[in-house]
Amino acid sequence: LPAHIYPNRRNSMGVDLADPLVLAPLREELEEWSHDDPLARPTLRAQRGGKMHPVCSPFSGKEVGGWVSATDKDIDLAIARAVAAQPMWDARGGEGRAQLLIKAADLLEDNMARLLDLCQREAGKSLPDAVLEVREAVDFLRYYACEARMLFGAPQPLPGPTGETNLLRLHGRGVFACISPWNFPLAIFMGPAAAALAAGNCVLAKPAEQTPLIAALAIDLCHEAGIPKDVLQFVPGDGKVGAAITSDPRIAGVAFTGSTGTAHAINRTLAQRDGLIGTLIAETGGQNAMIVDSSALPEQVTRDVIASAFQSAGQRCSALRVLFLQSDIADTMLEMMKGAFDAMVVGDPKDLATDVGPVIDQEAKDKLEAHVAEMAEEGFPVTRLPLPVNCKDGHFVAPTIIEISSILDLDEEHFGPILHVVRYPVGKLRQVIDNINATGYGLTMGLHSRIEETRKFVEAHAKVGNFYVNRNQIGAVVGSQPFGGEGLSGTGPKAGGPHYVTRFATERVTTIDT
Ligand code: GLU
Repeated sequence: LPAHIYPNRRNSMGVDLADPLVLAPLREELEEWSHDDPLARPTLRAQRGGKMHPVCSPFSGKEVGGWVSATDKDIDLAIARAVAAQPMWDARGGEGRAQLLIKAADLLEDNMARLLDLCQREAGKSLPDAVLEVREAVDFLRYYACEARMLFGAPQPLPGPTGETNLLRLHGRGVFACISPWNFPLAIFMGPAAAALAAGNCVLAKPAEQTPLIAALAIDLCHEAGIPKDVLQFVPGDGKVGAAITSDPRIAGVAFTGSTGTAHAINRTLAQRDGLIGTLIAETGGQNAMIVDSSALPEQVTRDVIASAFQSAGQRCSALRVLFLQSDIADTMLEMMKGAFDAMVVGDPKDLATDVGPVIDQEAKDKLEAHVAEMAEEGFPVTRLPLPVNCKDGHFVAPTIIEISSILDLDEEHFGPILHVVRYPVGKLRQVIDNINATGYGLTMGLHSRIEETRKFVEAHAKVGNFYVNRNQIGAVVGSQPFGGEGLSGTGPKAGGPHYVTRFATERVTTIDT
């Protein structure tokens, strides 16, 4: 087997929500945790106190916990302690670090109910989405633990003339800032941090300000697993805190997931500061398309379009934004899709029947609504689902389908339950691919076609990181579908894949002559 298959590694089993004997006790546990009042504070404080900011539920608008921002002094202390701790962490070696990451993964699984509760309360995720989220975080920890063992164990011997020994070793670069988004408040909070730790770096982990509670619990569990507090530090804050960390010349690298604009800003910050030449690993947005031709199976297309565009309320970087339907099947396809669209249940994410929950906050809702209003004003046909009455307190955006004439009608990504549809003439596939590539984004793409030549053609010309054929285009699985894009969608390497951890490392070669 190739080295990166790891035959003994298994992805997390998660929770079988279809089994009533599992679901009933889980529900009871969730109910108990839902009365908890969690708080998130920086791991290290230079001084006590600080304003408590509320965390509010996207579904009810009610306060579910609070967080205190790191101050400039906290950040300075955090970096100094991380810099001091890094050589010891690096010297622990791949095996020593792997054991702690695996212990952290076990503790995450042991605390499943608590994590699910926070994921639902602060991020508004459905229970199945929340389970997938915890599983993915656990998978990242275990996968990167395997990488730590393999890449940071014995040095790699390299050839040389007789009498010369060459040894290549990987080490941590220093201190990494891991800045994560609210849409995967556990998985994408934990993943980059776990990779940075696996490679021998210390980490300052900054959650999104909307979702600091689940991240704070994850950090506590990592500390409980034995990862030292100076090595992995929780640094909550807004964009200013992120900027203060990344502008510090002692920070060796930044792993960022979020908007393309912020990735550019971090890149500029790293370029302008003195001190270390910072590494940037960025996973950003997309303008993800799916192409459907007349050889596709309509039922399968319907199921996969609905999942790709509306699961997680469309708040995935991978989500489908623009569906291209070959014109001769477009009317039939749209009619079938609208049947499934009308049957979607919008509502309380705690209710297992719910398909589409709220979006993260009022700002997100306002932006999405402004886009729908603008498209309607410009005369594009808009179809929306009515919102049920129990949605009035939450940040709900009615699932929407908008027919447009070209993907180039869209100037940016619309991060929510909005699907755009374009009809394309038979024989114009090349034009479709060119237009998709012309957006500059390159994250996911879907294709529904039974024609092998079409698949090969799209595969050869589409500049995307993840290409999905005859299935949905969300839910990349660690170790099977390494995830990440190119162009405006990110720098790579791909999360959950064999080239990720090495990007967090530096290489050293020893040459010994006898
Ligand atoms: N990995 C996730 C997926 O495949 C998306 C990650 C993201 O939204 O950043 O659906």
